[in-house]
Amino acid sequence: MIQLININKYYKSGSEQFHALKDVNLQFGDKGMHFILGKSGSGKSTLLNIIGGIDFYDSGELIIDGVATSKFNKQQYNTYRNTYIGFIFQEFNVLKSLSVYDNIAISLELQHKNVKAEHAIVQDIIDKVGLTGLENRMMNQLSGGQRQRVAIARSLIKNPRVIIADEPTGNLDSKNSKMIMDLLKELAKDRLVIVVSHSDQLAHEYSDRTIEIKDGVITRDDEQEQINDVDLDLKPISVPYKTSLKLAFKAIRRNVKRFVFMILLFAIALVFAGVVINMYLADTTLTYAEYQQEFKNNIVGLKSEFQTRGYTQNTAFFEFQIDNFLSKYETEDANYSIIKGMDYNIPIDQNAVVEDEFYMNTIQRFNVIPNDSREYMRFVYNTTVQVTDPSLIQVYITDYIAENLIFQNYFGSSVTNIKQIHGKVIDLESFSRDIIVCGIIDTNYEDYKQYFTYFNEDAGNDTKAKNAFFDNLLYFNSIFLKSENDFEKLVNDDNIEYFYTDAIYQMVGDTGKSSGLKITPYDHSQNYILPLSKDAKAPTAHLEDEPTQVAVSTGFFEKILNINIDEIETTETENLCDLLFKKVYFQIPVYYEGSDVPKMQNVYSANFLCLTSYVPINYTFEITTVIEDENPILYTAPTEESGDYQLLLNNLFKNGGYISLYMKDTTDLSNDELLRKNADLYREFINNEMIITNNSFGKILLVDSFINDNLPLFIGVFFVFALFSILLIFNFVIINIKNSTRDIGIYMSLGFSGWKIALIYLFQVIVLGLVAFIISIAGVSVFLVVLDNHFTALSAVNLAIIKVSFLGIIIMLMIALLIPILSVIIPLFNLSRKNPVDVIKTI
Ligand code: ADP
Ligand code: MG
Repeated sequence: MIQLININKYYKSGSEQFHALKDVNLQFGDKGMHFILGKSGSGKSTLLNIIGGIDFYDSGELIIDGVATSKFNKQQYNTYRNTYIGFIFQEFNVLKSLSVYDNIAISLELQHKNVKAEHAIVQDIIDKVGLTGLENRMMNQLSGGQRQRVAIARSLIKNPRVIIADEPTGNLDSKNSKMIMDLLKELAKDRLVIVVSHSDQLAHEYSDRTIEIKDGVITRDDEQEQINDVDLDLKPISVPYKTSLKLAFKAIRRNVKRFVFMILLFAIALVFAGVVINMYLADTTLTYAEYQQEFKNNIVGLKSEFQTRGYTQNTAFFEFQIDNFLSKYETEDANYSIIKGMDYNIPIDQNAVVEDEFYMNTIQRFNVIPNDSREYMRFVYNTTVQVTDPSLIQVYITDYIAENLIFQNYFGSSVTNIKQIHGKVIDLESFSRDIIVCGIIDTNYEDYKQYFTYFNEDAGNDTKAKNAFFDNLLYFNSIFLKSENDFEKLVNDDNIEYFYTDAIYQMVGDTGKSSGLKITPYDHSQNYILPLSKDAKAPTAHLEDEPTQVAVSTGFFEKILNINIDEIETTETENLCDLLFKKVYFQIPVYYEGSDVPKMQNVYSANFLCLTSYVPINYTFEITTVIEDENPILYTAPTEESGDYQLLLNNLFKNGGYISLYMKDTTDLSNDELLRKNADLYREFINNEMIITNNSFGKILLVDSFINDNLPLFIGVFFVFALFSILLIFNFVIINIKNSTRDIGIYMSLGFSGWKIALIYLFQVIVLGLVAFIISIAGVSVFLVVLDNHFTALSAVNLAIIKVSFLGIIIMLMIALLIPILSVIIPLFNLSRKNPVDVIKTI
């Protein structure tokens, strides 16, 4: 049945070779108690391990039922160990994590048998080896003899053809020894039992045949058996996955405390990783696009952003900026329409008193819509209005304004329906021309009514919806001029053309403080420099990042800045220029009618007020000298030197304005594509120093800059914690595997393949990863909610921006699984390359 032909085995340690088995020739029949005797170190275990298939020989041949094992593949070896051989070691090869019953039953499982169905057999064998009543004991609650009996029972239950036992009684007292030997002798009646021992007495007492070995050479063999081979059935039996899973859970249960501790540590690391990942993935502009869609909030207001002295300010656009914007963004296939407008708070009625949260008592903006981009507008109804008076300016108003006018009783009590306002004339306060309503635009303002307590006491205060309303209010509260040209007509006639021409001139002229401000390039031949400072000089072309240099007249100080030069006391060390003019940054103040006090005197601001509109002076001026002239004059660098003069004239003092986008909700794109496109557009605005003025966008900007400012920190934190958790899990797994190396060896000798053993540990770490993942999702959610609430408090905008995203969860899951899996694979890969016997011996 088993035949060894010229078996040689060498152990290599470093450069040295040890010849452990020398041309061993043996044959074993199919039953009987065979003793291999020899002194310690003679090669008994080596021989037995080779027979048992847990170690490999270097030359010769081991033949099992006529089949040469040199032809065995890995799987056949596993099956051979699993089904053909029952192995019993001196060191009681029992699995520490299993009970008596489970240690025995595992053999059945490995052969894909149903343990419950075979319960009677298991119990029978337990009885046979004398372990009745100890079924649920763990291994550390057993004596050595009992453990050895467990090992024997486990071998027996497979009903193997061969039982091999390596000094099975080596660690037992004589009473237990006898019991084991009796048991083996009994078994040897109908199967082959090979026992290794160094005890002549035992051999004498129990053996049917004795083989002696000395220094790897067989020195005695009682008889040569007749070989009677049967068909060797090595159909591959692979260990069921279920067994690996079960063993994994048993191992977890045995180490619950350490396991839970590891989960918590890993979960903490995952929370940090998850916060960073989700924050990194926060698609702020997409969140805004979705929010807009949720509330059918189609209007996006834009302002221009600029930096002044470390502060970010935002203002209306210069006209040249508007032109640039239109040339870049006014495209045929755009999913938005561009609306140009100008803020101008027009009181609806002097007597109007109601300033409700929902209704304003002023109209806030004029809008000009290019004729070709009106298709998105819906009208309450659209009948032609005959306009007989040519001085009337034809406009569309919104249903919001129309209802507001009724609410304020503007047309008297007979007008109760907004349709009645069609064709009506509205008198604009402070404008000499009136407007006539030629259409009423259908907006979605009504949708928001329910969120205002004024209308419904019970409706509560949905702040998110309210924010959306205020985001759109400028649109609801706008007049839309029917003809683009009417814009100029409307403002020119009323002397508010400073939106268009020289703002400073008009402002000063209006208040009567001066006959006007002149802007002119400095002329070397005509101007002379007042000897106010030794450093005084003519203005020159300004360098980048430097303030624009200008010279000013004494009249400019007196009449524009309202400073009396004569009253300023100079000293010997500090003359007037040092005190006042050198590197003085000034701002053009605005005088309101009937007031001598300039409205704004903050010299650090770069804005000046143009009624209700902030039109920016994107320049900081540095006065290089003062020129004696009672007229207010601003001298720029000479024209041939720089473009400052043209720049000031063309850009600075021309009109500015606002841009709004009407985001269309119906395009050829799918909804997701449309949201993406909008989000990308908003992102582009942010990147190009434009600000979306919708209130709710304030939080987007806050969060965005928080994330961008802290990105390197986030990435750093992420890597530290990734590293931390990798080390943590590696450490856990390596300790775990080290502690159970012996178990792994036993698994191998039971016929587990490397992969199935890996699975036992893999299942454990996957459970660890998954549980930690679930805990961390909760942790991350709480953390992000707290962070998001912080920004809600700062911006007063209740719109969740930093939140757990689907992709974020997926990435966290990958991390939670990949790190543990990687940490298992490396040590197990090392183990799986070893012979089972080496693994067992590694301890
Ligand atoms: P026995 O079981 O008879 O005590 P072994 O078969 O265990 O003897 O060992 C036979 C010889 O081979 C001994 O001298 C031992 O030192 C050596 N040996 C056993 N295993 C190894 C090994 N893995 N590497 C090197 N030498 C080994
Ligand atoms: Mg030995």
